[in-house]
Amino acid sequence: MYDVIVVGAGPAGASAAIFLAKAGKKTLMFDNGLSVTRRALVKNHYGAPNITGPDLVETGKAQAKEHGAEIVAADVTDIRRTDDHFTVETDQGVFHARYIILATGLYTDMIERIGVRTKPGTEPRIKTIVDVSPEGKTSIPGIWAAGTVAGVSMHTIITAGDGAKVAINLLSEMAGARHVDHDVYKPA
Ligand SMILES: Cc1cc2nc3c(=O)[nH]c(=O)nc-3n(C[C@H](O)[C@H](O)[C@H](O)COP(=O)(O)OP(=O)(O)OC[C@H]3O[C@@H](n4cnc5c(N)ncnc54)[C@H](O)[C@@H]3O)c2cc1C
Repeated sequence: MYDVIVVGAGPAGASAAIFLAKAGKKTLMFDNGLSVTRRALVKNHYGAPNITGPDLVETGKAQAKEHGAEIVAADVTDIRRTDDHFTVETDQGVFHARYIILATGLYTDMIERIGVRTKPGTEPRIKTIVDVSPEGKTSIPGIWAAGTVAGVSMHTIITAGDGAKVAINLLSEMAGARHVDHDVYKPA
């Protein structure tokens, strides 16, 4: 049983997974290889002056793994509530988690199928997005959403930040207190 399953390993999903895993949560992240970020050449991401989309995605996944997240290359086909947790069906088997974060970028088919409420997108060329609260909660308790699919501006710095924001809000709800993740630099 995982604490959190993150569907999507682009900037939003991987950023969420970094915060969750670093906080000690058993975290699993799925990637079906359809990140649009892989098509980008990114020159406007703070701290990474000139990076290809594939490098940004692979660096993010490696960072999440370094902090303890598991990553499975699989297509998520169904998510169902089962007693006190979610059952996640994929083309690579069935997995279980207490919480879900949807970070599927442009893809909403599976999300609409499982009954999460969606609405028309407002960003250019984005037809449908998940209807989320300011914290990132969807219409189904326990399922959260972040990044492009949650309607934020389609830029890597924003989608990554939204993934972090949603993970921090979920961690805060789990703990009953605001989550802060600060490491301190001590000059030699
Ligand atoms: C050509 C192009 C150029 C761009 N250039 C820039 C730029 O210069 N600067 C900039 O800031 N932004 C740029 N962008 C935008 C940027 O790439 C996106 O806004 C942002 O990175 C999207 O992040 P995301 O995590 O929300 O989605 P994505 O990166 O699309 O990630 C979605 C993830 O969800 C996974 N997924 C989806 N459905 C499923 C499923 N059912 N099961 C399992 N996994 C699933 C995918 O595999 C992927 O891992 C560009 C985009 C494009 C297309």
